[in-house]
Amino acid sequence: LVAMKELDKVYGNGTVALSDVNMTINEGEFICFLGPSGCGKSTIFKLIAGLEERTRGDIEILGMSPKEARKQSDIAFVFQDHTLLPWCSVIDNVMLPLKLRGVPKQERLQEAERVLALVGLSDHRKSLPRHLSGGMKMRVSIARALASRPKLLLMDEPFGALDEITRQSLQDELLKIWQQDPSMTVLFVTHNTFEAVYLSTQIVAMTARPGRVSAVLNVDEPFPRDDSFRTSAAFSQ
Ligand code: ATP
Ligand code: MG
Repeated sequence: LVAMKELDKVYGNGTVALSDVNMTINEGEFICFLGPSGCGKSTIFKLIAGLEERTRGDIEILGMSPKEARKQSDIAFVFQDHTLLPWCSVIDNVMLPLKLRGVPKQERLQEAERVLALVGLSDHRKSLPRHLSGGMKMRVSIARALASRPKLLLMDEPFGALDEITRQSLQDELLKIWQQDPSMTVLFVTHNTFEAVYLSTQIVAMTARPGRVSAVLNVDEPFPRDDSFRTSAAFSQ
């Protein structure tokens, strides 16, 4: 699904953000990127999303360049600061990307209702973002990303600003949504080791310098998902 070969990224000011990254990502995986601040996690996402150009090497998504894949709306993002338009209702925020792509109104509404139901926000469709909690705003953001039925969902520390309880329920909701669509691949950046182990089928561990991938770990055994374990793990962090 995603192939990176000998990928380097050097920013204009000379910062080496990635150096010789080689990675193949298969369809349907849930991959967490773990690593210290500044190791290049967001840079990888920006290259995949076609928001930054690579300096050297190759990157291919579904056999296309990142920009082509984005144009086809095969890629969607969710960031920590959910970037909702404050003057638009929940449902308008969710429909906006569809509107920009010229999807007819009836179809837009139908899609928006589908994804709002997925994140449990159907009753809040008319609310303004400022009337929602942080967790609800994140759910709207996830719904907006899902509305275009992306093949690749990029999430850059989406739950970093949320409290532990909200984070846990969003983790479970996200897993459920991902499990419902076997063709959807999720790439997820987190600083939280427990979150990475809980969510992923594969963990990509990165080292600080010079922006290298140090290991790709397969999570063979599904993690125990009972609450006692979660609680003790959350406290031990
Ligand atoms: P964090 O966990 O703090 O989000 P990260 O792993 O996402 O960190 P990146 O944002 O990818 O790290 O940054 C990797 C390196 O590239 C850092 O040294 C950073 O300072 C540098 N960098 C990132 N964006 C730019 C930019 N637009 N111009 C110059 N340097 C940049
Ligand atoms: Mg980052």
